[in-house]
Amino acid sequence: MKGSITSTPSCADQTDPNTISVAQALSQIESKTISVKQSVLLPIRECLGRICSESIRSSINVPGHANSAMDGYAIAFSDLQIDLREGHITTFKEIGCSYAGQNLDAVCKSGQCIQIMTGAVIPEGCDTVIMQEQTEQRDDGLVAVDSNHRLGENVRYAGEDIKQNTVILNQGDKIGPADLGVLASLGIAQLNVFRKPIVAFMSTGDELTSIDKPLEKGQIYDSNRYTLFGMLAQLEVDIIDLGVIQDDFHSIRSALLDAANKADLVITTGGVSVGQADFIKTALEDIGQPDFWKIAIKPGRPLTFGKIEDSLFIGLPGNPVAVMVTFNHFVIPAIRQLSGATPAQAPTVRAASTEKMRKQAGRLEIQRGIASFGVDGQWQVCKTGKQGSGILTSMTRGNCFILLREESNGVEIGDLVEVQLFDWSQI
Ligand code: AMP
Ligand code: MG
Repeated sequence: MKGSITSTPSCADQTDPNTISVAQALSQIESKTISVKQSVLLPIRECLGRICSESIRSSINVPGHANSAMDGYAIAFSDLQIDLREGHITTFKEIGCSYAGQNLDAVCKSGQCIQIMTGAVIPEGCDTVIMQEQTEQRDDGLVAVDSNHRLGENVRYAGEDIKQNTVILNQGDKIGPADLGVLASLGIAQLNVFRKPIVAFMSTGDELTSIDKPLEKGQIYDSNRYTLFGMLAQLEVDIIDLGVIQDDFHSIRSALLDAANKADLVITTGGVSVGQADFIKTALEDIGQPDFWKIAIKPGRPLTFGKIEDSLFIGLPGNPVAVMVTFNHFVIPAIRQLSGATPAQAPTVRAASTEKMRKQAGRLEIQRGIASFGVDGQWQVCKTGKQGSGILTSMTRGNCFILLREESNGVEIGDLVEVQLFDWSQI
C-alpha cells in the first residue's frame, strides 16, 4: 500500500511550533510562584542557608573603637613631623601598655608613646601605630622611630567594617557563613527567616520496583526518587517522599490531592508524555490548573507546570537524566522563589571544548561534561560520552552541564562553550 503518515511533533524534532522557549517557561514559573509568607525567629546558627525575612540594620559600629592592627607603639603622628628630614629619628618615652580587651586609662602627650597589642584600643592622644619591628628600643629606655611613616598607619577605625545604622541584610538574602559572623559581630543572636518550603515528590510508573525487591522481567528500579531526594536534601526544604504511584488515574489523582494538602510544591516524575499510561495529564486536568509544556530543551522537553489548590505542581519527565536537568533548570528557580529568596542565576564559566559537538539550532541542549582548569589558565571541557536521557551515569561521570544555547549550530574544537559546574546548593 502506498502512502504516507502525517507525524505529530515529538522530541525527535529539532523545532516544533508548539514548543515554548526555556526563557518563556522560566518567566511563567516566576509569575505563578508565590513565596511562603510565614517566618520563624531562630538562633543565628540555625539560619545558615535560610532566607532572611527582615531587613537588618547595624545598631553599633564594628569595630566599636579605633584599635591597633599590629603589635607596636601608638604615637601622635604630628610628633614625627616636627623635623621631617630624610633619615630623621624621633624618640619617644613609653608611658604604658594597651592590651586587647583592656581599657587603658592613659593620655599620651607629645613625645610619649604607648606600647600597644593588636586589637587594643588606640589610647587618647594617639593616631598612628608603628609596628614593633620598625622601632628600636634604646638602652636609655626610649623608643626610636624613623620618619618613614604615614598618618593613621596600622589603625583600624571605629565603624571601618560596619557603620552604625547601615543595612547589612535584606529580606530575600540567603544567610551564608560570613553573614553569621557579621550578625555575631553586631551582637545579634536571633534572626527572622522564612519557613522552609515543604516539597512532596513521587514517582509514577507501573514498571518501577523499589530497591528492596527483586526485579521481574520488564521492571526497573525506581532511581528518580533517589536523585530527587539527593537534590532536594541539598536545599533548605522539608521533604515528603510519597513513594511510587501506579499508572492509574484514580491512584494518581488521590496521591496528587494528598500531596497538595501537605506541601507547597509537588513534584512527580514520569507520565507526562503522550503514552496510553500517562495519567498525570488527565488527573491534573481534573483537580488543578495545569499547563502542559513542550520546552525547547534537550533533554526534558515535556514538562507539566501548574497548581493544585494552593500548591505548585511540577511534573518532570520520567527519564533519569531529564529529571536532573529539568530539576536544575526549572525546579531550583521555583524553590528559590518559594523560599522567599531574591532571584539569582547559577554561575557559568566559559570553557574551550576539546571535542566537536553536533547540534542543530532550535533548542537549548544540556550535555553532561567534564571540565578542568587547563595549564594555560583556561577552562576546558569535554562530554562524558553518550548523552542519552536514560544514561544516568553521565551525571556521575560528569562535573558540569555544558549549555549549548538555542542558536548554536554545533561546536568545533577550541570553541568556547558555557559550562555550569554541578553544585546543587546553588539556590
Ligand atoms: P514516562 O515519561 O513515564 O514514559 O517515563 C519515561 C522513561 O523514564 C521510562 O520508560 C523509564 O525508563 C524511565 N523512568 C520513569 N520513571 C523512572 C524512575 N522513577 N526511575 C527510573 N527510571 C524511570
Ligand atoms: Mg511512565
